[in-house]
Amino acid sequence: MAYCRHCGAQMESVATICPECGRRQMTTPAVDDSGSFGWTVLGCCVPIAGLILWLVWKDSKPNCAKAAGMGALIYLGFYVLMLLVGGCSAML
Ligand SMILES: [Zn+2]
Repeated sequence: MAYCRHCGAQMESVATICPECGRRQMTTPAVDDSGSFGWTVLGCCVPIAGLILWLVWKDSKPNCAKAAGMGALIYLGFYVLMLLVGGCSAML
């Protein structure tokens, strides 16, 4: 169940126009865009998946996209760090 953004009348959650005041509702995305930490973990474990999810979701599910992209970034940062550490220890 949803409520009209303008007059507060109860309306069908799928309705785009309020039956009470007839004003158009902002279309709230029905998708789950919680941006849960799970996507960050996934992006961290499988950075390619994180990158793809970020590209696919960045318009429709910005929060999830951010979470997945963040995971990929964390992985990348960790990878670069390991390269630097590895490179430095190889030089010694
Ligand atoms: Zn209304």
